[in-house]
Amino acid sequence: MADGRLQAPRGTFDVLPDEGGRRLRLAHLAEELLHGAGYGYFESPVIEDTELFARGVGEATDIVQKEMFTFEDKAGRSLTLRPENTAGVCRAYVEHGMHKQAQPVKLWYWGPFFRHEAPQAGRYRQFTQLGAEALGSDDPSLDAEVILLLDEFLARAGVREVRLRLSSLGTRDTRRAYLDELRAHLRSREHELSEEVRGRIEANPLRAFDSDHAGTQAVMTDAPRLLDKLEKDDAEHFAAVRALLDDAGLEYEVDTTLVRGLDYYTRTVFEFESDRLGAQRGVGGGGRYDGLVEELGGPPTPAIGWAAGVERILLAADAPEEPEDGAVFVAVAKPESGREAFRLVRELRRQGVRAELEQAGRSVKGQFKHADRIGARAVVIVGDGLEVKDMRSGEQRPAADAAEVVRLVGA
Ligand code: ATP
Ligand code: MG
Repeated sequence: MADGRLQAPRGTFDVLPDEGGRRLRLAHLAEELLHGAGYGYFESPVIEDTELFARGVGEATDIVQKEMFTFEDKAGRSLTLRPENTAGVCRAYVEHGMHKQAQPVKLWYWGPFFRHEAPQAGRYRQFTQLGAEALGSDDPSLDAEVILLLDEFLARAGVREVRLRLSSLGTRDTRRAYLDELRAHLRSREHELSEEVRGRIEANPLRAFDSDHAGTQAVMTDAPRLLDKLEKDDAEHFAAVRALLDDAGLEYEVDTTLVRGLDYYTRTVFEFESDRLGAQRGVGGGGRYDGLVEELGGPPTPAIGWAAGVERILLAADAPEEPEDGAVFVAVAKPESGREAFRLVRELRRQGVRAELEQAGRSVKGQFKHADRIGARAVVIVGDGLEVKDMRSGEQRPAADAAEVVRLVGA
């Protein structure tokens, strides 16, 4: 800035304490829910070799083509700030021989991700994802389990007006044959398509389903649908997933146009959206990636997972109804009481009482004003003896010692 003040880079943001508390509570909720379902917490580096994403996300995807923060290290090696985590999870699964452990291996994660996009509400260049992955089994109950876990998480997080779109992409062979058919359809009506879609018929014809161009949309109404082309096994797998979701009473819409951002999705794909959000309506999504571990040099390993955006979840969630209980404020009535007050605040904290100490040299009147401002539920005045004032009732009582203070304020 011209006046010499610095700002966080474009598309990034600071988390201030109010928001920080909401985020941490969300992380605790994730730990409770996912640990409870047998998912272990996993972390991997924020930087990875660029090749991991080229292979693991796919060269033709928007992420790899346009959105990665890529740089060279001092040895000239190409590194990338991770734009997503499925590729990193698969890399780690192979690197640490997790395929030799009991299967499926279930992991969950939470952390920063980076994409070079046009910043707007709900779309940032550094954002936070939480995710869950289950590797090593193609059992349809895993598909249903991960979908239901994300649904449960969103509900407990207070996200409202949620819709689930669900589809199946079949195997990569089915998809390849289907994509040829789709390309032929697009080429037969090429002059009606948007320039962008026309330019990507070869690389990524599925993107045409996402277009908001009227001519393209007309062409797509008669386009062949992948769901009609599934092999018997894949169709049965999809039916089994749906049956489990139906049993669980989960509502969803089968959407044959659902396109996901990774090249390696197979079979089940899904996306949760909230109508509370504007254009950036996707709160989380995922799918099966049965070929990805092998693609990255591991043994054939079916797997499924999802990722959800923490900032979008908080935007779409109801604010918590009840504000937290205030702290106990320890006031210093005269300078000589400073050391006793310092000891008392430590003792209160040891006893599990959230406590704060006067540390800015205020007058006694100023200290009460401050206690009000921070929403303190009680003030302990340390002077000639101890006095405890309940800030809600206004009642003030003497206390003999720290233990009595604890009794009076309640832990
Ligand atoms: P979108 O269609 O909005 O670009 P996406 O398909 O690229 O989303 P995924 O790769 O599936 O998103 O990532 C999972 C979730 O991460 C999204 O549903 C969203 O909540 C969140 N997310 C993705 N990109 C961003 C971003 N740039 N800023 C904030 N959250 C994001
Ligand atoms: Mg995107």
